[in-house]
Amino acid sequence: MDVPDHNTINRFRSGRLKGVLKEVFSTIVKFLVTEGLVSLDRVYTDGTKIESSANRYTFVWGKSISTRISKIAEQLNELWAYAESVTKQELMEETPLLAEDISADKVAQVVDRIDEALRDVDCDKKVKQKVKRVKKAWPEQLKRYEQQEQILDGRGSYSKTDPDATFMRMKEDHMLNGQLKPAFNVQISTNEQFISNYTLHATTADTTTYTEHIEEFKPLYGFYPKESICDAGYGSEENYLYARGKGIKTFIKYNYFHKEQTKKWRTDPFRSSNFYYNSTLNCFYCPMGQPMRFIGRRKQYTKTGFEQEIHIYQAIRCQGCPLRSLCHKSKANRRIEVNHRLNKLKAEEKEKLLSPQGLVHRSQRPQDVEATFGNLKNNKNFKRFLCKGKNKVEVEFGLLAIAHNIAKVAS
Ligand code: SF4
Repeated sequence: MDVPDHNTINRFRSGRLKGVLKEVFSTIVKFLVTEGLVSLDRVYTDGTKIESSANRYTFVWGKSISTRISKIAEQLNELWAYAESVTKQELMEETPLLAEDISADKVAQVVDRIDEALRDVDCDKKVKQKVKRVKKAWPEQLKRYEQQEQILDGRGSYSKTDPDATFMRMKEDHMLNGQLKPAFNVQISTNEQFISNYTLHATTADTTTYTEHIEEFKPLYGFYPKESICDAGYGSEENYLYARGKGIKTFIKYNYFHKEQTKKWRTDPFRSSNFYYNSTLNCFYCPMGQPMRFIGRRKQYTKTGFEQEIHIYQAIRCQGCPLRSLCHKSKANRRIEVNHRLNKLKAEEKEKLLSPQGLVHRSQRPQDVEATFGNLKNNKNFKRFLCKGKNKVEVEFGLLAIAHNIAKVAS
């Protein structure tokens, strides 16, 4: 009846399993494949946010850091202008600092210069006192902000007690309000409710996690899945193109997929997606039958840096049109912006989703992947991680995924 000490379990979990658990996990999944219980050809992917063990009130916000830096730059420039006005001389050849290129060293240098200039001048004592005070405080604050920005690494926030955890809006709490809590976005792929892949992410939106998640599948099994089924949270131009590039057949809904099927949407003559497009002339026709000419294009970038090309079309003359009040509110002629590549991808996806195979996948998806999350979060009551740090949390979830798969075989 010997019982292992909790430290032994913890050392095993954070030391021995580090870097090898994914291999153990995939070995078990491969065994399940040979037993005919799971197929790796088709994966149902979804994500959920699981709360980190970090303290809920220890947040650091990226936006508040940049606001504080801008305020320091603003106050520094004011002190600079004041010093120049009372000394009646230019303090340095260079202009004062801009918020974008502010640093602890630069601020220390500029404050020193202001302090030196004001030393023997008869001026406002309060300003002199402020210069003395900020001489030490601002460089220290900026050093701290630099460190915090390094930890943020492009994220919007992090928790002081687990810097790998990001504050995310959770679906539930005791008051049934969405609450911001430190969490990880856990993505899983399932087949027959067995987990075949899992990854942890710091971004809230599922769209941004798809490529990284599917990319992890190949090193585990040596190939990509043949079919990928997801909900509308994953439908983006980048994800569609990525999957096609890897030879994966997708059944991924996009925003408005369901709305598009409604009669109201399909029969609305003023909705730009219902306008007739003449590809030879590259123009649309508005409800009055007037051509909307191509007037230019612009590039835009998604959060992941993916480039999208937007084509702009404009009606020639809306003035005096009897349909104007129903058509648009702009004072100028109506403009529409179209992403042709995305529209083509969405049309292809729609055809697949409405096919008999697509209907089967769409009804299977919630039963497969969402039910798996339901089992983990509600039946197994796994709603919060016990460990801190992404590596440890990854091991913790890996163990849970293995346990889920084994329990499923047993049941
Ligand atoms: S308002 Fe302009 S774009 Fe709309 S139907 Fe009339 S002419 Fe066409």
